[in-house]
Amino acid sequence: MDFNKEVFKEKFKNRLDEKYALDVKDATPQELYLTLSSIVRSSYSRYWRKTWKKYMEDGKKQIYYFSIEFLPGRLLMSNLLNMGWLETVRDALKDLDIDLDEIAEVEKDMALGNGGLGRLASAFMDSLASDGLPGNGNGIRYRYGLFKQKFIDGYQIELPNEWLDSGNPWEIRRESKSVTVRLGGKVYLVDRGNYLEPVYEDAQLIKAVPYDTAIVGYKNGTVNTMRLWDAEIPSSEEAKYRTIEQRREVEDLVSVLYPDDSKESGRILRLKQEYFFVSAGIQSIVRHFKKYNKSMNKIGEYIGIHINDTHPAMSVAELMRILVDEEHMSWDDAWKQTVAVMSYTNHTIMAEALEKWPVHIMQQVQPRILQIIQEIDRRFVEEKQGKYARDMIERTRIIKDNQVRMANLSIIGSHSTNGVAKLHTELLKDDVLHDFYVMYPERFNNKTNGITDRRWLQIANPELSKVLDKAIGTEWRQDPTKLQKLLKHQNDNKVLNQIANAKLKNKERLAKFIEKETGIKVSTDAIFDVQIKRLHAYKRQLLKLMHIVKLYLDIKQGKVASDFQPRVFIFGAKAAPSYYYAKAIIKCINEVANMVNNDPEIGDKLKVVFLEDYRVSLAEKIIPAANISEQISLASKEASGTSNMKLMLNGALTVATLDGANIEIKDYVGEDNIFIFGLTKDEVYDYYNNGNYHSYDYYNNHEEIRRVLNAFVDGTIPNCQAEGQEIFDSLTKYNDEYFVLRDFESYVNIQEMVDRTYSNKRHWNQMSLVNIAYGGMFSSDDTIKRYAEDIWNISPLKDEKHGTYSL
Ligand SMILES: *Cc1c(COP(=O)(O)O)cnc(C)c1O
Repeated sequence: MDFNKEVFKEKFKNRLDEKYALDVKDATPQELYLTLSSIVRSSYSRYWRKTWKKYMEDGKKQIYYFSIEFLPGRLLMSNLLNMGWLETVRDALKDLDIDLDEIAEVEKDMALGNGGLGRLASAFMDSLASDGLPGNGNGIRYRYGLFKQKFIDGYQIELPNEWLDSGNPWEIRRESKSVTVRLGGKVYLVDRGNYLEPVYEDAQLIKAVPYDTAIVGYKNGTVNTMRLWDAEIPSSEEAKYRTIEQRREVEDLVSVLYPDDSKESGRILRLKQEYFFVSAGIQSIVRHFKKYNKSMNKIGEYIGIHINDTHPAMSVAELMRILVDEEHMSWDDAWKQTVAVMSYTNHTIMAEALEKWPVHIMQQVQPRILQIIQEIDRRFVEEKQGKYARDMIERTRIIKDNQVRMANLSIIGSHSTNGVAKLHTELLKDDVLHDFYVMYPERFNNKTNGITDRRWLQIANPELSKVLDKAIGTEWRQDPTKLQKLLKHQNDNKVLNQIANAKLKNKERLAKFIEKETGIKVSTDAIFDVQIKRLHAYKRQLLKLMHIVKLYLDIKQGKVASDFQPRVFIFGAKAAPSYYYAKAIIKCINEVANMVNNDPEIGDKLKVVFLEDYRVSLAEKIIPAANISEQISLASKEASGTSNMKLMLNGALTVATLDGANIEIKDYVGEDNIFIFGLTKDEVYDYYNNGNYHSYDYYNNHEEIRRVLNAFVDGTIPNCQAEGQEIFDSLTKYNDEYFVLRDFESYVNIQEMVDRTYSNKRHWNQMSLVNIAYGGMFSSDDTIKRYAEDIWNISPLKDEKHGTYSL
């Protein structure tokens, strides 16, 4: 049946009746949500099946994006939008006295990720489908995902995130597609004449069961798959799992994202997770490939596997294992195919994030995989001998000092390595991965990250979306680069006022939410100054906090500038559970918030709001209301950043260091439409090379810095003596690893510039307009097209009709 409002209303009432035997007026939001999602799902199902069939029939090359994190957030609104149903459903439900936004709030975020890495993976899923490209996700269905964050006495408390408790209407368990993953035990090789057969002893067998989630493309009838694996005890092995501990071990495998790695048992569990989803994914891909009836020597023409950061790096060895051990290919042929299949994205240059696994742990987790990695390493060294200096080979080989270096495995075992912003890719080529760049220059390329404008503008900010439709038409909804049409309206007071009005409405909405969540009343006249991202020293939430303390002290001491603008500082951030320094910063932010918010002398001049449990659905509430986007990492440390893109797209102005994609944002909007401060990457590297940064001198010689830092230890900021001292010491005694004190003055100056700029509202609105106009240049639809062309060599289905989903 064709989709329209009246038909939908009937369908909705019937489905509610079938599912729950209820009238609309008697149903809870949860029941309404599950009814709506069930209609949505049954309508895209046949497109899901058709898309899959068509890929098969056309013999399409398929891409599988392997990622330890996915962060889709909520799916209801996104599916409605992409099916072209959103406005009609909103209207239809209104007729039934139901508020769509209210029932959408029932959905728990699918929070199977930690931050930017997982969010990017999910943006890419959305964009692959929206570009009509054959691309699927492969990951883990964590029972609890990332923890749920609460603040008690200002401290971060981690609670299990029970996102599956009330059911997940979007997933389908596919028992029949289960595979068996082998962990641990021992292995030896038996000579079978033309091949070596690995014989396993005492291995643990795990049943991997896939749960598939449909990824609906934007109004194009393409529905791809995100496949997440659950772990179970195979029925044939039941007898071996006698104790609670043995059973719990299987549950633990898919229990949480990033188990605590401060103990060896936690580290082993992490590596097991990595092998589990890699092996399950590759086994199911190879099984599927066999249906094409092509030679295994052609697998590289039909299959691409993307290694998102190093967590899935064992993919290289696992595909080799299957091709050599099970398909009996020669090593050389298997290697050729493996390199053709694999591609790799590097997401960070932070040394502690480049995974290294002790050989003995790898041995314990999967001894055959270790053997294969050792053989890859041996052949690599052999091949490079004589061509490169010995020390260069030692630096690039996979196994060194009894450690398996996962980035090295990923680069050597794939045909493409990319960075995620221009600066980041240059750093990889010139510095972090320079040796590899010399060996394989053709493998290196840049793919600047992107965001989905559908979620971050169309869904999150309907107010601004309406203004844009009126000003420049609706083309931008298909093609966000068309937002540049706004530039024509830079001097159009009507459009400028409408943009400002949309921002005000969004600030009012957020102000209500803040009051409901925290009890804090904030004024919408104030600048909403936003820093939302994982809590990490390199991201420098501390620099923001020092600025707040400075303003507080200024006001208390009667030193405010005449053009001072009231501000609401908004934070959202989780700290890794074992990252004590980050937790100390959270505690101090919360204590500063208490101090500032309850001081009558401060009043509405400053408010500090730290919202709990930062996640995608919270970001969707904060971002449309932001005036200022804080992107203040130490130059060279933030590979790309994506909250910078989301915030500019929503008209926030960026206060930024020249780091990651901030540089590309600046290049688009121009220096006049962004607030740049701080050390450059070259200046940071000069300090590294010369070893001449002495943070204590900044404390000693700068009255202002001393005044602010002392507040952390002299009782001015109450209730955080220990944490304040830890922070104080890190910035003075331990030489301030991320140059917070070095950049402080420059940061304060740029913030004064922000105040002066904000006092001219028209000019501010013009700058905001320019940022919205160029926000569309960071669409993940475009990023993914470049991956498709340059790395994966995949193309969209031909003559695919723009689908309208019927009921
Ligand atoms: C976009 C996003 C991030 C990434 O933010 P950065 O500032 O780029 O680090 C992290 N978490 C969530 C929930 C996001 O939506």
